[in-house]
Amino acid sequence: MSQGAVVIKKIKQAQKELLAWYEKAGRHELPWRNTQDIYRIYLSEIMLQQTQVSRVRDEYYPRFLEKFPTLQSLANASLDDVLAAWSGLGYYSRARNLHKTAYLAQKSLPTDYKELLSLPGIGQYTASAVCSFGYNQSIPVVDTNIARVLKRYFALLHVKDKTVWEYAQKLLNHKDPKNHNLALMDLGSLICLPKNPKCEECPLQQECQGKTEAELYTQTKKKEYESLELFYGICIQNEKIALTPATGNMYKGMLELPAVDPIEEDFLGSFKHSYTKYRLHVKLYHLDSFEKAIWVSTDALHVTPISSLTKKALSTALNKKTM
Ligand code: SF4
Repeated sequence: MSQGAVVIKKIKQAQKELLAWYEKAGRHELPWRNTQDIYRIYLSEIMLQQTQVSRVRDEYYPRFLEKFPTLQSLANASLDDVLAAWSGLGYYSRARNLHKTAYLAQKSLPTDYKELLSLPGIGQYTASAVCSFGYNQSIPVVDTNIARVLKRYFALLHVKDKTVWEYAQKLLNHKDPKNHNLALMDLGSLICLPKNPKCEECPLQQECQGKTEAELYTQTKKKEYESLELFYGICIQNEKIALTPATGNMYKGMLELPAVDPIEEDFLGSFKHSYTKYRLHVKLYHLDSFEKAIWVSTDALHVTPISSLTKKALSTALNKKTM
């Protein structure tokens, strides 16, 4: 048998083993895997980008869908309502892009990969995930989990993302691309773990070229964080809280507490908060009045577009655990 024929045989074998493993061990119960609704599949992909599967599945995904059950209903909603429903998920640009995309696409998302890529907030990963999971197109998908499996399986050390996508294409099962990609994703999440992969349970163990030094393939650059100190004023009158439109891009379109100059005798409390690359040290001060306030009743905070940072600040100031 020629070298080429041997490689093809091995790839076919790996595809077969992957599908058999997925059939019995995959996460078939995830709600976005039990729907043909492209909007629901797309929404799950956006939410899952920075948030744990269990929190998306149990909390944010059902809550968001209750409010915006269709792409059209999302397109018709105000940005304030969308941001309020996104509250707690962080990375609010995802919600703004979701809203813009719904408005541009209106009734349904395009089926064409390139058209999907042209929509706000849809990159290579999301476009391929929608094409594969939503439309069962023969297209590879590479997220962090899949990349780890591929790097180890093919022993790809210090390679560019483009190379990993090329190997994903090589391994792609054109007869069942959707389940093939889902199988790789689950294998990365459940078996081929960043630390201590469970190689003895892996369907790819026989031909995996990187299994003896698996952790070599997951070395990542150490994240660099930026420390910031923020000072906010707490002004409450008649059970209403003074808020103001958020400045800067981080929380664009949302409301936040007014920024103040710190005065020691008005100090109320402080807390730490992490947001993307920032480590924030937030200090809160009592404020007698605030002229340009948007007054929000404490009862309406759950439908107001405020960030987790603002929620935490209010919670700290009012000396409550949760709001
Ligand atoms: S054999 Fe081990 S390192 Fe290789 S793909 Fe499977 S779990 Fe990952």
